Amino acid sequence: MYGALKDDLTKKLAAIRADGTYKNERVIATPQGALIRTSDGKEVVNFCANNYLGLSNHPAVVSGARAALDGRGYGLSSVRFICGTQDLHKKLEKAVAEFLGTEDCILFSSCFDANGGVFEPLLDEESAIITDSLNHASIIDGVRLCKAKRWIWKHGDLGDVEETDPDTGKTAKGLERCLKEAKDAKFRMIATDGVFSMDGDIADLAAICDLAEKYDALVMVDDSHATGFTGAKGRGTWEYRGVGGRVDIITTTFGKALGGASGGCVAARKEIVEYLRQKARPYLFSNTLAPSIVGGTLAALELLTKSTELRDRLEANTRRFREKMTAAGFDIRPGVHPIVPVMLYDEKLAHAMADRLLEKGVYVIGFSFPVVPRGKARIRVQISAAHTTEQIDAAVHAFAEAGKELGVLK
Ligand SMILES: *Cc1c(COP(=O)(O)O)cnc(C)c1O
Repeated sequence: MYGALKDDLTKKLAAIRADGTYKNERVIATPQGALIRTSDGKEVVNFCANNYLGLSNHPAVVSGARAALDGRGYGLSSVRFICGTQDLHKKLEKAVAEFLGTEDCILFSSCFDANGGVFEPLLDEESAIITDSLNHASIIDGVRLCKAKRWIWKHGDLGDVEETDPDTGKTAKGLERCLKEAKDAKFRMIATDGVFSMDGDIADLAAICDLAEKYDALVMVDDSHATGFTGAKGRGTWEYRGVGGRVDIITTTFGKALGGASGGCVAARKEIVEYLRQKARPYLFSNTLAPSIVGGTLAALELLTKSTELRDRLEANTRRFREKMTAAGFDIRPGVHPIVPVMLYDEKLAHAMADRLLEKGVYVIGFSFPVVPRGKARIRVQISAAHTTEQIDAAVHAFAEAGKELGVLK
């Protein structure tokens, strides 16, 4: 049988290459950090990691992980409810709940799994789930796994509207319209990313929570690109938007700002967490988090609870980069998030620009369709607290040079 599948895959792979969307993986031969070396020996400054706070190889995080490795071993060879729960796991669940201001928290192997496990137990076929059209793939998949009736609102459109695209004939609805249509459901849940990773947009949680209250809906936020640094104390989008206590469910990852290893969680009201422990399939049927990751994440949270220094530095670095790139003449999507989309629109130009920047020692990636809409190609820069002022300025300089060479800047 394999011959037929092999031919099919070979054709599909060739088509992906011809389309220019084939993903090559660059191999790094150092720990993750501001300055990295690729396996061909080239040193580059990394501007495409989710290492927002520079914790991926931070001494305190590594030492927290090492202490857990020494004290609690390498692995547990079990799921949580059989014999995979250590004191450390309980400690981390408590620490995350405290950090995020929720009643309780349940760990998953990843945020992908958290999103895969959170909807299905809570929402049955009589319920309604209302999701933003640009939500992360893991929310989309999690929603697919639950039987609730689905509504999708057009990203950024919270209104009581319905529009038909004259070209495609497709209709798009605002959030309030969806909520009205879902009024007869037993439960309604609004699900959104806190920060949208392609644009760095921060969800308008204040308006979303107002609508949730008006139409009696629950609010679920995936804060993977916010936990640890968004908001004055880095607690996330809810803190930034001033909606503490009004979000029912927060999912997030430990694989980005919080040390970047892996793992995720659902932080939520007490009964929700208690029920997920009984019913969430990725929790019940997948291994417990490795002790070293638990120890590392605990150390990361401890650092961020003690001081806001790292998130403050990230904010200053972000402001500097955004201001200097704008002054240099680039088209930057406005905002405050360390995800800084440098808009180039043309797909080939975006990739050529990223290649040129790599030659200049700046590691960034061009994003094009289908990751972003056609004609909206860009380079997504991600700023880190680990970047020095010199590295930020050198990156702007390299962008300006490459921009002139490729005709982006006059
Ligand atoms: C990165 C990301 C995830 C996946 O997190 P993992 O822990 O790596 O599985 C989920 N949701 C959003 C919004 C993300 O950005």
